[in-house]
Amino acid sequence: MNKKMFWLFGLVLFCCLLPLFYAKAAQALSVHMKKSVLAENGSGVCCLDNYLEIGSFSKTGCSGDKKNLTTIKAKNKYECRKKTLQKKYRFADYYKTTDKFALVCVEPCSFNDQKFFDSSFVGDNIGLAKLKQATGNILPKQKMEIHPDKDGDCEYNEYFSGSSGYKDGHPFICMANYYWFKKLKGTQVERDYGYYEKVKSQTLTVHEPIHNIFHDYQKGQAPDYVIQESFCKAVSLTIAGQADNYFSDFFSGNYTLKNPPSKSVAAYNNFFVYSLASRFGFDENDMKIFFQKYVSDSYSTKRGNARVKAILDEILHQDTAASFVDLQISLK
Ligand SMILES: [Zn+2]
Repeated sequence: MNKKMFWLFGLVLFCCLLPLFYAKAAQALSVHMKKSVLAENGSGVCCLDNYLEIGSFSKTGCSGDKKNLTTIKAKNKYECRKKTLQKKYRFADYYKTTDKFALVCVEPCSFNDQKFFDSSFVGDNIGLAKLKQATGNILPKQKMEIHPDKDGDCEYNEYFSGSSGYKDGHPFICMANYYWFKKLKGTQVERDYGYYEKVKSQTLTVHEPIHNIFHDYQKGQAPDYVIQESFCKAVSLTIAGQADNYFSDFFSGNYTLKNPPSKSVAAYNNFFVYSLASRFGFDENDMKIFFQKYVSDSYSTKRGNARVKAILDEILHQDTAASFVDLQISLK
């Protein structure tokens, strides 16, 4: 059975057996615990996130983002789902939020694992707090919607990694974390739930929103991908501990300033920050100042790559053209 069939079969099996299981369980319990079963059936609420337009069922109440959340009555998940869909919102099997981001898995969700989801939420909060430190408090402008794995809105990409974009004007980030959680089981690099609560698992949660920052503050005129990607990698790999600093060999690989990578090799996307660090001493503190200046109005006359250069020239007190030349980046 291939993987797709396996999941499809699993899903069908799950969907068919679940009502049966509930019916049986309810019957058995009702004999001894009639009162508590009734209480159980009546507990829980439906949480509507009116900004992301997502509904989800919660047994403990709606919290985390007062401004955007409405609580409505629902006896159970199925009633909540019905009310959510009536509102033309998406229904999430898993949902947890703060006012900065929501971690969601909208139906059909690729996993059935509350512990994985809860651990991911803990980790994402840590990752985003670290991102804020690295950018001097700069995050994407709007609340982010983060999906930890494939679901009704996200597909796996060819590398089973992450992607960022927008949905209805807010950042929309897809990852493949559960895919790897399953895939690596039984190997030497197996991951437990605790892994997802640590900063070392936060590479993508740090990386992807940086693309959104680049776009948010210069709509349609963000700098070239190679510049963005290099900043995303430098920040995320340093935070997650996969690189020591911006001068790390990781960014250059087998390449040096005298022998920069060509556009056709992967290291090309890492090299810009390496070049800035090697040539001009660009470091983590400069990165912080860079983002603060990037979102300010002081550079509003310059766009795209030219704006990046103007900021770098000012921070580093030098003409940084050589780093742009290293990567054959246009300044027009
Ligand atoms: Zn990227």
